[in-house]
Amino acid sequence: MYNFENKYRAIRKVWALSAVVLISSCAAKPPQETGTFKSSDLVELKRLDPTIQLDIRYATSNNFAGRPVYSEAQAFLQRPAAEALARVNKELEPLGYRLLIFDGYRPWSVTKVFWDITPKAKREFVANPKKGSRHNRGCAVDLSLWDIAAAKEVQMTGEYDEMSPRSYANYAGGTPAQRALRDLLRSKMEQNGFTVLEAEWWHFDFQGWKSYRIQNVPFNKI
Ligand SMILES: [Zn+2]
Repeated sequence: MYNFENKYRAIRKVWALSAVVLISSCAAKPPQETGTFKSSDLVELKRLDPTIQLDIRYATSNNFAGRPVYSEAQAFLQRPAAEALARVNKELEPLGYRLLIFDGYRPWSVTKVFWDITPKAKREFVANPKKGSRHNRGCAVDLSLWDIAAAKEVQMTGEYDEMSPRSYANYAGGTPAQRALRDLLRSKMEQNGFTVLEAEWWHFDFQGWKSYRIQNVPFNKI
């Protein structure tokens, strides 16, 4: 079985030694973007559809940074993406599942922290802050499936934020049941305007993400 603790311990060590990282991340600024953008209309997912499940790992220590990077356990997306997600959630219900959200809109400063604490060899799993993340635009979501009858998260081919080939959307390992659940999530999301990230089965971008700006607004200012 994949050893999560070892992975997190190594990253925590980097974090503990890098107080400088935090200071530089706070001082750094998001990339300047030119062009025309839609105005931001971030919607809290739970308000739109209270049946959507949340497990906001970045508001806890149960994440690859080993410490909370959000002060509120909330998830936001731009309105069209949020509405599409609510449709996916409705379509899953008759099949016995709901959506379980790990993350949505992410302030740019958090993307910078993730980049700075991630070893170079693992940076395919984090966004380069020079370009920003689609999460910073409020058009990307990290999620899994929630089993309604069992009242728990389903078992996918790998864990959320695992930095290994098990995270690839086309990873051929795991059990047939795990692959079927991963592919069910993907097909429902694709039918509603989302595209999976090939390196991460849990990450989806919403169509038209380029029309929204990179933002650095904290949750409590939305
Ligand atoms: Zn993501």
